[in-house]
Amino acid sequence: MSSAKNPTSSKYAWSLIARTAPPKRAAAERVGDFHEIYSEFDEATVREQASRCIQCPNALCAQACPLSNRIPEWLALAAQGQFLEAAALSRSTSNMPEICSRVCPQERLCEGACILNCKSDPVAIGSVERFINEYAFAHGGVDATPAAPNGLRAAIIGSGPAGMACADELAQLGYAVTVFESLLLPGGLLVNGIPAFKLEKSIVARRIDLLAKRGVEFKLGVAIGRDVSLAELRRTHDAVFLGHGAQKSKTAGVPGENFCGVAQALPFLIEKNVDSPLVDLPPIDVAGKRVAVLGGGDTAMDCLRTALRAGAQSAVCLYRRDFANMPGSRKEYYNALEEGAEFQFLTNPVAILGDDHGTVTGVRCVRMELGAPDASGRSKPRAVPDSEFDAPVDLVLVAYGFDPVAFPEDSEFSAIKVNEWGGIIVDRNQMTSLPGVFAGGDSVRGPSLVVHAVRDARRAAAGIHRQLAPKLAAVAV
Ligand SMILES: Cc1cc2nc3c(=O)[nH]c(=O)nc-3n(C[C@H](O)[C@H](O)[C@H](O)COP(=O)(O)OP(=O)(O)OC[C@H]3O[C@@H](n4cnc5c(N)ncnc54)[C@H](O)[C@@H]3O)c2cc1C
Repeated sequence: MSSAKNPTSSKYAWSLIARTAPPKRAAAERVGDFHEIYSEFDEATVREQASRCIQCPNALCAQACPLSNRIPEWLALAAQGQFLEAAALSRSTSNMPEICSRVCPQERLCEGACILNCKSDPVAIGSVERFINEYAFAHGGVDATPAAPNGLRAAIIGSGPAGMACADELAQLGYAVTVFESLLLPGGLLVNGIPAFKLEKSIVARRIDLLAKRGVEFKLGVAIGRDVSLAELRRTHDAVFLGHGAQKSKTAGVPGENFCGVAQALPFLIEKNVDSPLVDLPPIDVAGKRVAVLGGGDTAMDCLRTALRAGAQSAVCLYRRDFANMPGSRKEYYNALEEGAEFQFLTNPVAILGDDHGTVTGVRCVRMELGAPDASGRSKPRAVPDSEFDAPVDLVLVAYGFDPVAFPEDSEFSAIKVNEWGGIIVDRNQMTSLPGVFAGGDSVRGPSLVVHAVRDARRAAAGIHRQLAPKLAAVAV
């Protein structure tokens, strides 16, 4: 064998070992339940797959990761079977790697940047990350010991990934952290949004338990601005972090959206995916129905797949741009296709049709074509003349995305500056215009990704700690 292609050298393992994915349940089986569709690699496979990494000196995967995860380093440890060490390194830059590994659109982040894309398939980074972190949980490798108290208190508003990550960082620095969550079920969109077939609810509950063991207190069913004022939180805490997300659903904005049989995506996903007495939403019956989902993002993909699991006769996505310009994850698109979802690209819904009783009967659409790119670089769709047609459907799910919920007026919140669409304006430490009040996640960015919420939260926690350094020094004296 030529020394240039020695299979024991990790530099060439990629050319000898094909990329594989962890076992995935057959579509016919998985549409019958709401459980996760992937399982874990076995130890031999994860070592092999991790060994495909060529250990680039300027790792593009790490640069493409919003958390700058030390990917090649933990891949090297995983390749050697040092799973606990690999997991510890992955936890050093991420507060929820077992969650990010399940829901990150890796094909657009780390795996999309992997240098192997030039010659072969990228390293299965997400699946290795999931394996090492599940291994650590299963083998007692995740420490939950509370840090020594530093004497200061932090309030976190919202228990989504931004709130969880900020709480975790601050608790590990010794702050007494209280998370205020308006709902009774903590986890934000990780629980009340992302379906269980992508992220099992028990995985989020395990992470929340871990935070509680680290000393984080959760006050559930408490809405800041309604039950407790921001002014009071600021009086009683040394720092405040706003991680209250952006969950105001965008409307369809077309005639007929008030017909019976039109529902918003988020309540539909929660009602079908969250099996808890703490959630009390009116049931939306899809069994035997023809369902149309409006939109092309992750939420739309999740609605299609949820509708099929809930017994829909058919589920079709109506999206005005083409596949290349669709914002939803490619992995989840293919999973949806396998499960029987249909996609009509370049199709713009212009009206929802109903009968004399005001019940949905269809969606009027026009065919679209893509014109020149707009300011954001995306091609602007325009209607094809005389292309109108009616798609017969029984239920319409609107998945056009979300806006931040406006702050209550006449409160201290009004001192916080927001941009033209309501996103909170922050400085590079994630501090808002109100001193001592920090923010991150969807409340700042608008609908984004879990990994971005975690990054903002880590930056905010570091900013809070820096800002409170003089106070900490005074407390220590
Ligand atoms: C259906 C769906 C699917 C998605 N799929 C993916 C995916 O596959 N991968 C991915 O990376 N991202 C996905 N996302 C996006 C991701 O979930 C969000 O970007 C992320 O959850 C934002 O985190 P956050 O903590 O900023 O906000 P959220 O997760 O929205 O959490 C905010 C929390 O604050 C609480 N809250 C709000 N107001 C108050 C108040 N006044 N007082 C107290 N509590 C309050 C809310 O109840 C909520 O629990 C998806 C989103 C949706 C809707």
